[in-house]
Amino acid sequence: MNTLSKTFNEIFGHAATATEHASGRVNLIGEHTDYNGGFVLPTAIPQQTIVEMSKAPAGDRKARVSSANQGFKVHEYEIGKEAKQTSKEDHWLDYIQGVTCILVKEGFELGGFHARIHSQVPMGSGLSSSAALEVSFMRALRTTFGLKLDDVRLAQLCQKVENDFVGARVGIMDPMACSLADVGTALFLDTQSMEYKQVKVPEAAELIVINSGVAHRNVGGGYNTRRAECESACEALGITLLREVGMSDLPRVAKLPDVLSRRAKHVITENERVLQSVAAMNAQDPVRLGELFKESHLSMKQDYEVSIPEIDLLVELASSQKEVYGARLTGGGFGGSIVILVRKGTAVEVSQRIAALYAKASGEKPTVIVPGGT
Ligand code: ADP
Ligand code: MG
Repeated sequence: MNTLSKTFNEIFGHAATATEHASGRVNLIGEHTDYNGGFVLPTAIPQQTIVEMSKAPAGDRKARVSSANQGFKVHEYEIGKEAKQTSKEDHWLDYIQGVTCILVKEGFELGGFHARIHSQVPMGSGLSSSAALEVSFMRALRTTFGLKLDDVRLAQLCQKVENDFVGARVGIMDPMACSLADVGTALFLDTQSMEYKQVKVPEAAELIVINSGVAHRNVGGGYNTRRAECESACEALGITLLREVGMSDLPRVAKLPDVLSRRAKHVITENERVLQSVAAMNAQDPVRLGELFKESHLSMKQDYEVSIPEIDLLVELASSQKEVYGARLTGGGFGGSIVILVRKGTAVEVSQRIAALYAKASGEKPTVIVPGGT
C-alpha cells in the first residue's frame, strides 16, 4: 500500500490540524452478553484506526472524506444531509455519515471538514474495525469542533450510529472497548450500570488472536436472530433483560422451549464466567482463565450456536498445544477470529504453529493478528 499511499496534504492541499486514533478490540470473554445487560471483558489490540482532520478551509458545510482502506477516493456530502448509501462499495460511508448525522441530531455544532482515514484493524474479522472507525472519527470531530463529549458518551453515540443509521444492532461493548480499553489491560464492563474497571492480563500469560479467514457480517446474519431469541426468552420469563436472571434461575430457564432455553443458558453462564475470569485475572491465575475460555467456547458452540466448523477446528488445534491455557471464538461469531491465552514468551512461535496446522487442515488462509501490528 505504501507506494500508493497519499498524505493528507496530497489529498486536500493543506495540512491536518487534528490526528486522533482508536484501537480495535478483542473480547476476552463475555460474548453476546452486552445486549442482554450483562458483563463483558474486552481488551485493545495494537492495531489502530487513525483519522487526520481539519476544518474545511472554505468555511462551508461540506464533509470531504478519504480512506486509505478504500482506495483514497474522496467522498463529499453536506453536513445535516446525510443519506444511507445504496451501493455495496460505498457502504463504509454509512459509518462516516452516521457519525455526523447522530452528532447533529444530538445538537452538536459541526462545520465542514476534511478527513483522511487509515487503519490497520482488519475489517470484518470480529475485531471491531467499525467501532474503531466511529470512535477515532468522532474523536477527530470532537477535537476539531471542540465538542463537549466524554469517552463514555462518545461510545454511546457510536453505538447509536450503528443501531440507528447503519442498521446493525450491535451492543455497547465494541464502542466502549475502542473508546476505553488499553493493550495489556482488559475493560471489565457492566453494560447495565455502565460501571467499568481495568483488569490486568495475568503476568504469566499473553494473548494470541488468529483470524480464521472466514469473514463474518453483523448486519443480517444470525446476530439479529440471536437478539430476537433473547427477547423472546425474556418475554417467556416475564423479564426485560436476561441480566435479571442468574445461575439459581437455570432450572426455570430449562423449562423454556429448547432453543430459547439454550440461548438464555449461554447468557446466564457466560455472565458468571466473566465474573470468574475477573477473579482469575486478579489472582494471577492463567490456568483458571484458560478453563473459562474453553467453557465459554463450548457454550457458544452448543447453546448459542454461533460457531462454525472452521472456528471449532481452529480452537481445537490451539487447545491441543502444550503452551496454551485456553482458546475460544471471539466476537459475534459466524466466522471471524479466535482468542488464545498462551504462556508468556511463546505467542510468536505458537501462533505461527497453530496457523500452519489450521491452514493445512482447513484450506483456509488464517492471519495472525496478535502478536502483530506494531
Ligand atoms: P468489524 O467491526 O468486526 O470489523 P463490521 O462489518 O462491523 O466488522 O465493520 C466492517 C466495516 O466497517 C467495513 O466493511 C467498512 O465498511 C467499515 N470500515 C472499517 N474500517 C474502515 C476504514 N478504515 N475505512 C473505511 N471503512 C472502514
Ligand atoms: Mg463492527
